[in-house]
Amino acid sequence: MRTFVHTSHPARVVFGSGTVDRLAEEVRRLDGKRVLLVSGPGLEDAALRVRDALGDLVIAEFDGAAMHTPVEVTERALTVLREADADCLVSVGGGSTTGLSKALALRTDLPQVVVPTTYAGSEVTPVLGETRDGRKTTQASPAILPETVVYDVDLTLSLPLAMSVTSGVNAMAHAVEALYSPDADPVTDRQALDAISRIARALPRLAADPADHEARADLLQGAWLAGTCLATVGMALHHKLCHTLGGGFDLPHAETHTVILPHVLAYNAPTAPDVLRRIAEALDVPDAASGLYDLVASLGGPTSLRELGMPESGLAEAAEAAVATPYPNPRELTVEGVEELLTDAWNGRRPK
Ligand code: NAD
Repeated sequence: MRTFVHTSHPARVVFGSGTVDRLAEEVRRLDGKRVLLVSGPGLEDAALRVRDALGDLVIAEFDGAAMHTPVEVTERALTVLREADADCLVSVGGGSTTGLSKALALRTDLPQVVVPTTYAGSEVTPVLGETRDGRKTTQASPAILPETVVYDVDLTLSLPLAMSVTSGVNAMAHAVEALYSPDADPVTDRQALDAISRIARALPRLAADPADHEARADLLQGAWLAGTCLATVGMALHHKLCHTLGGGFDLPHAETHTVILPHVLAYNAPTAPDVLRRIAEALDVPDAASGLYDLVASLGGPTSLRELGMPESGLAEAAEAAVATPYPNPRELTVEGVEELLTDAWNGRRPK
């Protein structure tokens, strides 16, 4: 018999095509009358679409969201928010924009409506990572969790294929680690397997036809399910390594997840054979680690830490940092074992 505790976070999710047109109604549901619209560089078209949908509800805008949520940026946005006397946050963008919205909500307790345009999954988690003086710290609080998420497939159509691949694998990583988490339960298992298979099936379809609306819908739905897993259960070696590499060596977020995931699967394979078998089935390949590596390679995605700018001299330090504090992982964590994993990932070797 399996023993478990399942917690669901209280978020409202609206999913579909053209759902941005329901934003004003969603803001009013939260008693919002004065919206601060939050976005970031490169999101001008999406922000325009959201502004049009919200009309007079928007009283101020901040379009300076940056990767890893620097506190200086949050403070500038907070000044805009206070001067405008905003009573609701609406953000549109990827994990960086969502991070800024969460940082503002944490400081003001304003309700948030988040419109995600990547597959990072942050919109459904009560977790915030912020950077101060180059150091990233993470905290969790119910005040951080967005009240409403509006997924509009139309706003994801502009995400370039390369970013769709890396962001899709970023989502897949949440689902993979949820499956072998000690906190896993029957709900997260089903969500995780569905997310993995949706993302794995959608990415090649998107590569064949970048305008494939159904493939985009599968990716976004997979991202929601995977993000929900991330919010519900603890993560393991993969997330620890990506956090260490992103924070310590300034490597790009989704790309780092994409390179590392096949190698973590290979590392954990000997001690979690049943989970790895289920992941392989969801991916529709004989072996999860090499199958995922081949999928990424076939889509032109990054396969080595070297191409992301990781210095080879930093691998030992990263391995030590990743095992410095204990956390649950299917296979025992040793500095030598993790350094070997990182060396394989640095060289871009196909896992055996
Ligand atoms: P991102 O938000 O930085 O976006 C990457 C780039 O994609 C940006 O230049 C952006 O302008 C562009 N972009 C986004 N959507 C687009 C679209 N539809 N069309 C064209 N361009 C688009 O990257 P990300 O990978 O989504 O998020 C990474 C950040 O999110 C990191 O800081 C990470 O730590 C955080 N994150 C947090 C959580 C959490 O639960 N707290 C979960 C996942 C990620």
